[in-house]
Amino acid sequence: MSIGPQAPLREASATRGAFIEVLLGLRMRSRRSSEERAQLLGATLSLSSSFELVGFDADDTLWHSEIHFQQAHAEFERIVGQYVDLADAGLHQRMLDTERRNIRLFGYGAKGMCLSMIETAIALTQERISAADIHRLLDLVKGILTHPVELLPGVRAAVEAAAEIAPLVLITKGDLFHQEAKIRQSGLAELFPRIEIVSEKDAQTYARVLAECQVAPARFAMVGNSLRSDIEPVLALGGAGVHVPYAVTWALEAEHAVDPAHPRLRSVQRTADVPDALRELAAH
Ligand SMILES: [Mg+2]
Repeated sequence: MSIGPQAPLREASATRGAFIEVLLGLRMRSRRSSEERAQLLGATLSLSSSFELVGFDADDTLWHSEIHFQQAHAEFERIVGQYVDLADAGLHQRMLDTERRNIRLFGYGAKGMCLSMIETAIALTQERISAADIHRLLDLVKGILTHPVELLPGVRAAVEAAAEIAPLVLITKGDLFHQEAKIRQSGLAELFPRIEIVSEKDAQTYARVLAECQVAPARFAMVGNSLRSDIEPVLALGGAGVHVPYAVTWALEAEHAVDPAHPRLRSVQRTADVPDALRELAAH
């Protein structure tokens, strides 16, 4: 895609200043001193753009995630394949159906996936799966939960550059403990004045976050790898989106109805191109 010129700077309004003070003071999870907060406020006001808030997704946008889930799925198939013919059993579809059914009970993340794996394995093997193999499934998920965080290339510089365009909010869904641990390990927490770990990323959730931040949807841009969770609901509200696809996508995240030609959407192949895409969207 082509990247246009930087958005013209505009004067910060009193409302915008008040918002940023609220944003910086409200639910601060980073350990900024009051002096650091003042510096950030000043820097943000001096570099104001038409966005008043930029959101970042976390899994597969800032760091690797889905690849670990897919590796666990491959091992899950190997274990269940000891009991049944995988093609005949339709393992992939059965697991997907179980996960879809269970999300409203277990939520997103590795622990919910583990319970769905166990449920699917018990059903497909007609209760023949051994306790030793169920133990292996548990170990698979513990492996995901304890895997070191691996940032995607260019993430820190891109997030730092985005923070000069507008205050940032991290909006991620999944298991609370796991997400908190990854944010802590990532070393990126101090770049996000506000962090939201939510159970679902739909229009209602984004509307709540924006209302709490006193930001109109038109002044919000979301950056993420999932068209379904990061882009579609934000465009529906009137916001903007920067899509950065990841190498692999979970089947349930692949279900969306985003128009790739939407005027408030930009797609970039590299995280390093996110700040330019944000500036180009802001200019329009
Ligand atoms: Mg993601």
